[in-house]
Amino acid sequence: MLKGIAASEGIGIGKVVTIRQQKVTYEQRQVADPDGETERLHDAIEQFKERTEALAQEMEKSVNPKEAEIIRGHMVMLSDPFMVSQMDDMIKNDSICAEAAAETVLDMFKMMFASAEDELTQQRATDVEDIKTRLLKILLGIEEADLKTLPAGTVLVVNDLTPSMTAELNRDNIAAIVTESGGLTSHSAILSRALEIPAVLSVLNATVTLKDSSTVIVDGSNGEVINDPAVSQVEEYEARRDEYLKEKEMLKSFIGRETLTLDGAKKEVFCNIGNPKDGIQAKERDGEGVGLFRTEFLFMDRDSMPDEQEQYEAYKKVCDTLEGKTIIIRTLDVGGDKEIPYMNLVKEENPFLGFRAVRYCLQNEEQYKLQLRALIRANNDTTGNLWIMVPMVTTVGEMKAVRAMVSDLAEEMDMKMPKVGTMIETPAAFVIADVLAKYCDFFSIGTNDLTQYIMACDRGNSNVAYLYKAYDPAVLRAIRRIIESGIDAGIPVGMCGEAAADPLLIPMLISFGLEEFSVSPTSVLKTRSEIARWSKAEADRITDDVMALETAGEVYDYLMKNVAK
Ligand code: PEP
Ligand code: MG
Repeated sequence: MLKGIAASEGIGIGKVVTIRQQKVTYEQRQVADPDGETERLHDAIEQFKERTEALAQEMEKSVNPKEAEIIRGHMVMLSDPFMVSQMDDMIKNDSICAEAAAETVLDMFKMMFASAEDELTQQRATDVEDIKTRLLKILLGIEEADLKTLPAGTVLVVNDLTPSMTAELNRDNIAAIVTESGGLTSHSAILSRALEIPAVLSVLNATVTLKDSSTVIVDGSNGEVINDPAVSQVEEYEARRDEYLKEKEMLKSFIGRETLTLDGAKKEVFCNIGNPKDGIQAKERDGEGVGLFRTEFLFMDRDSMPDEQEQYEAYKKVCDTLEGKTIIIRTLDVGGDKEIPYMNLVKEENPFLGFRAVRYCLQNEEQYKLQLRALIRANNDTTGNLWIMVPMVTTVGEMKAVRAMVSDLAEEMDMKMPKVGTMIETPAAFVIADVLAKYCDFFSIGTNDLTQYIMACDRGNSNVAYLYKAYDPAVLRAIRRIIESGIDAGIPVGMCGEAAADPLLIPMLISFGLEEFSVSPTSVLKTRSEIARWSKAEADRITDDVMALETAGEVYDYLMKNVAK
């Protein structure tokens, strides 16, 4: 089995067609007639634009106007007078051929994009490369591979799928796409998702390993490619594909709908995100808000801390994207399994029980204030639904300290105070939830850590994975008590741990009175559909049965029998 990046969901089974993009070569020559050469270049650019416009129009029909804009972006780039005048100058001053002028200038732009800080701008380098290849082909009179006429059931295997190639594909004939390069946010990935073609990207040596006409299975949901599968595997994946397609159709009916239980009680499905771009996904996937923005991801993979302005912009962006919705942003949850090298945290014997999250932040006040200020400003400058959430709280003192800091800063800044609440993810917080509620505007249950701490088993240690179960009666009792404490105190209670998206647990969470389920953007519709299956009475019946059971195994078996579809 080959592994790659799961870029577009679904399962495709078909026969390999490999398209090898040859490097376009030409002889660099001096030209005797620079004016004539400039004219040749301009003719080629005009042809490029005409073909691109035709492609964009086709895309508009086959996908949608938004995706066609990606292709139109290529026209815009080549219409840039600055770019074209640089090519003209090179032909005029150095008497070089149009191919060389175009390649030199476009390579320069490509390098500029590739060295940008943010990933989205970096991806534009691929677009420039695509433009360059197509323009050179026009100049050299090379015909493009005809992707429109690929036979039905094709698994397209390419080194890199360019946006223009994607635009040419006949969606009905392409079972799946496999590439050797490209990432989740590349235009090819975006377009294959828009075309709903399963795609696995960045599969090492795919164009060599996967032979033309051989059968392959492409699992775009798990990033897997099975070469020459056995008949039994094909049957298994065909069944999975049919199941996936059936469910996908069913889930479509939940787009844009309120989240309601079977008997009409209102619930909310929020999203867990790690950066502002995920906010876009949350919106696209119909999330009703953000229940957890893990801000530590803004601090990772870099050499120094993001300053107040950078943080402010990231937080504001999410609020702007999901305008008017509740956005719960968790303050820095450093430590444990989340290491940030430049923070110079001392290595500890028990990092999960050590100097992490709010413990670290309260000892590094200036740094923490910077994040809190950015949050208060973002709340102030948007619709005011940004809530601040504190991770790893174990004492009332921590909560009081953070509240006091937020309140003092808001007063100093003459801005309104955002809501401040806590994750309930430690046994201490659960035991004193009724007291903590006095100092919190909301609770969000972090079942990932809560399970690890209640069961006293490291969440990443496979030797104790048999204990790490949210189905354990100990964890379930904790969840029930936390929700009850929140309800008694009159504050909203959500859940942002993985358990919120577990269909087996949903009836119990409804019965306990959970209001908000925060899940990954891809699980929004599924979670909404699961919530819609249960009335309060039926959920209560399940819960009564489950709460009388004694072990995680018994609970799981019961739920598989009585809750699983
Ligand atoms: C949790 O602990 O449940 C949680 C949502 O946070 P994280 O997984 O980031 O620790
Ligand atoms: Mg946690």
